[in-house]
Amino acid sequence: MPIPFALLLSFISLWLASCWWLRRRRCCHGRTFLKDGPEAAMTSSPRVLFVTAHPDDEAMFFAPALLRLAQAQLWLFCASSGNYYSQGEVRKTELLESCAVLGIPSSNVTILDHRDLPDHPSVEWDVRLLSDLILKHIETHQIDLVVTFDARGVSSHANHKSLYAAVRYLHSERKLPEGCRVLTLETVNLFRKYISILDLPISWLQSPDALFVLAEEEAGLAKRAMQCHRSQLLWFRHLYVIFSRYMVINSLKFL
Ligand SMILES: [Zn+2]
Repeated sequence: MPIPFALLLSFISLWLASCWWLRRRRCCHGRTFLKDGPEAAMTSSPRVLFVTAHPDDEAMFFAPALLRLAQAQLWLFCASSGNYYSQGEVRKTELLESCAVLGIPSSNVTILDHRDLPDHPSVEWDVRLLSDLILKHIETHQIDLVVTFDARGVSSHANHKSLYAAVRYLHSERKLPEGCRVLTLETVNLFRKYISILDLPISWLQSPDALFVLAEEEAGLAKRAMQCHRSQLLWFRHLYVIFSRYMVINSLKFL
């Protein structure tokens, strides 16, 4: 069989499987699946802290989890202002607009601007410094659940990976408050990353601890949040919004 035809056939099969799955699960309002987690905390207005590295991470990577956790009290801890191209001030404003779309009140958004935590794709942040700052935030706001990147950081950005290292440190050293759990966002391979909703059957088969899937209307909100980051909307970002599975699917694992 010619390769292009085989690829087309695979795409159609995945699409049909996704449609079948969504219909079977009556997924018209979006879906949230949890396994072996603090379900009670997740359904009774838990206090959830999203820990990101740059303004736009929340919309680019975490929008499905944020929108599906609308019943929770949400906080965002963004560890830098995204000043790599000296656009930090603009990006702070864009982040607050995006958070308003995603249901995080501006009073619950913290944007660090620390000289030892620069926005840089190859700078690994100091784990002790970062974990101290994150822990202080968790304790101040009595957080039940922390959500952040996994060890590969979705895009392999060193700053993303540093957040995982810091939270992992808090978890393994038992520094987190009693009952506080950590969910990390699964990094998928390049093929899966850009097949949008077609990744759903694969995500489901991987059996994550939490799977958040957006319905069409919610996916529209995720796109609106991305559009708030006007300074970042270069041509390839528009393609990202169309094709990335992180705009519609988040699969996460507990530490
Ligand atoms: Zn980032």
